[in-house]
Amino acid sequence: MEILIKNCIFKGKEQSILIENNKIKGIGKIKGEHDYVIDAKNKAVMAGIVNTHTHLAMTLLRGIADDLPLDEWLNNHIWPYEREHLNPEFCHVGSLLGCLEMLKSGTTCFFDLYFFEESTFKAVEKSGMRGFLSQGILDFPTPEYEAGEAIRTAKKFIEKFKGKNERIKPALGPHAPHTCSSETLIAVRNLANKHNLKINIHISETRDEVKRIIEKTGMRPVEYLNEIGFLGDDVTAAHCVWLNDNEIKILKEKGVCVSHNQVSNMKLASGIAPITKMIDAGVNITLGTDGCASNNNLDMFEEMKTAALLHKVSNLDPTKMPAKKVVEMATTNAYQALDLNCGIEEGKLADLILIDLKKPHLTPMYNFNSHVVYSAKGSDVDTVIVGGEILMENREVKTLDEEEILEKAKEIVK
Ligand SMILES: [Zn+2]
Repeated sequence: MEILIKNCIFKGKEQSILIENNKIKGIGKIKGEHDYVIDAKNKAVMAGIVNTHTHLAMTLLRGIADDLPLDEWLNNHIWPYEREHLNPEFCHVGSLLGCLEMLKSGTTCFFDLYFFEESTFKAVEKSGMRGFLSQGILDFPTPEYEAGEAIRTAKKFIEKFKGKNERIKPALGPHAPHTCSSETLIAVRNLANKHNLKINIHISETRDEVKRIIEKTGMRPVEYLNEIGFLGDDVTAAHCVWLNDNEIKILKEKGVCVSHNQVSNMKLASGIAPITKMIDAGVNITLGTDGCASNNNLDMFEEMKTAALLHKVSNLDPTKMPAKKVVEMATTNAYQALDLNCGIEEGKLADLILIDLKKPHLTPMYNFNSHVVYSAKGSDVDTVIVGGEILMENREVKTLDEEEILEKAKEIVK
């Protein structure tokens, strides 16, 4: 199958992009007959966006409890609701809704961490998206398993789904160093090594967590995780809000990728992650939305804009976080962390989006990265292609039934 995208704006001029099967075959002036042609006049092409930390099925918890401190929000609202309502059907519908929302805002790949990942796997498979699905691992009982059964549940998920779909990779999601014992974390490390899996974990989201780890171990969280041999370049650490200089140095040395979730951190008033310091130290920084209960959407364009603005104002320096760097965080940095051979280049996987520029707020255009970060919204994404398959065209998602999913989502939370 060959797809020609003609007249799209790439690197400041109109060009064509030829896709053959799942890869980009050519860029430039391309003639000849092709199986399918997309006329992308007034549209710009961008490499697919990656959300490196979310809890997908939490789309169904959007707006359930806002304007509360994290502990109260989690202990009195989110966890009790999850205990009562979470089941495979709930997670399947929530994941379908999440995929729909991500496709309609230009996200082509994401890193999930939640429960009943088998239900999420089926939703992602239907959507055609790329995903890394981490089975959530905690020491205490969850809606999915009893205390002490987390590793066994994760093993079952991995064995069932490893290698089943080229675009969807099972992964491991130990919740955090304060909710998993060192034995659990070491078991996760061993499983990751054995099966070559990625790991997603929350690290130092709040000051209180850091205090608890210091009381328990005598070390700060990143120092403790390093001491037990947990860290490596297969780890994506969400939040990393409360780090000292030594912890930043360890993250760099171990090749850990950081998922910056600033909207969630701002909404829960957790703090401002020292991202500019981490960038200066050479840590690989990516962007994530976190779950919809603390964001409250999955729009990575919002994430890019707030990342740029937050670090400018918190450093009182408008030169911090330039647009180009922020776009890299949402694309190439994430590809590096997840070993994805993506980008707008010949031979790379055809994961790309078209942005409709024929809009008042995107006219005129001097600099594409500036538009992506400061002016565009997820709803400006017109077309989404993953692995050479058109998943959305003219804002119509081809793989999912939008009407049906919206109705199901309203129905299931009644
Ligand atoms: Zn999270």
